[in-house]
Amino acid sequence: MSKKVVLITGASSGIGKDTAIVLQREGYQVFAAARRVERMEDLKKHGIKVVSLDVTKEESMIACVEWIRKQAGRIDVLINNAGYGYYGAVEDVTIEEARKQLEVNLFGLARMTQLVLPMMRKQQSGKIINISSMAGRVSTPFGAWYHATKYAVEGFSDCLRMETKPFGIDVVLIEPGAIKTDWGIIAADHLEESSAKGAYAAQAKRVVNYLRQSYNSDSISKPEVISNAIRKAVLSKKPKTRYLIGYGAKLSVCIKRVVSDRMFDKIIQKIMSK
Ligand code: NDP
Repeated sequence: MSKKVVLITGASSGIGKDTAIVLQREGYQVFAAARRVERMEDLKKHGIKVVSLDVTKEESMIACVEWIRKQAGRIDVLINNAGYGYYGAVEDVTIEEARKQLEVNLFGLARMTQLVLPMMRKQQSGKIINISSMAGRVSTPFGAWYHATKYAVEGFSDCLRMETKPFGIDVVLIEPGAIKTDWGIIAADHLEESSAKGAYAAQAKRVVNYLRQSYNSDSISKPEVISNAIRKAVLSKKPKTRYLIGYGAKLSVCIKRVVSDRMFDKIIQKIMSK
């Protein structure tokens, strides 16, 4: 039997890149997709196929899925991983930037899902793995737009799972904690860009420092913690519906469950203002 086919978005860096290698080694034919194709050159030596993809562009998404259909004739696993955090005070982030954040983290994921579903329905099997975040379960200051996207991905995925079950298609959420990738530095840069001056500057600077310190340190989890959870979800006949995993993920969700909202706000603000 020919190899099962995986399409992973956001595979030019971090979690996506690591996952592409892990799944190719596991015997899948992986198609790695992102905008910076030059950053995926090294994946080719593993037998991974590289494809250009911008999840904010309709033509790019159609071309990517169509190319894979022509090459492999099927997609067994779609991993919607592309994403970033546009951090900044709600008052400071322009609606244009906020829309871009939703385009990538929510609508990109949704459109890729729409494009792949007809193939999966025809096959009567498939798995859609959506990379959400602990940020889809708990909130932090200056992350309003990012959290809005991840809370949305949670609800979207839970609805989708019920709709696609009759067709043999499963939907799984991965909810990473803090993972050492470019994500944290990109979020800190955006926060600095949008809120380093003005009414929120003092608070924002403390959060920028917190993000830079955390993401430059080795105390947070490595990407392989997440690629291993994705591997388990891909291999399992009966995967969990959500995998909450990585630095701070289980602890923060557990605290959120047992304390009041205002107490949770205080705890988070204290941690992030150190
Ligand atoms: P990275 O910044 O290392 O990787 C992000 C990936 O997303 C890149 O490959 C980038 O590729 C891709 N991407 C961004 N915009 C687009 C776009 N418009 N079209 C296609 N691809 C795009 O971060 P991570 O590996 O950490 O992030 C992966 C996922 O994990 C994200 O959804 C993130 O929200 C989530 N996550 C990360 C956490 C962390 O602490 N690191 C915690 C919780 C969740 P390119 O720019 O080449 O297109």
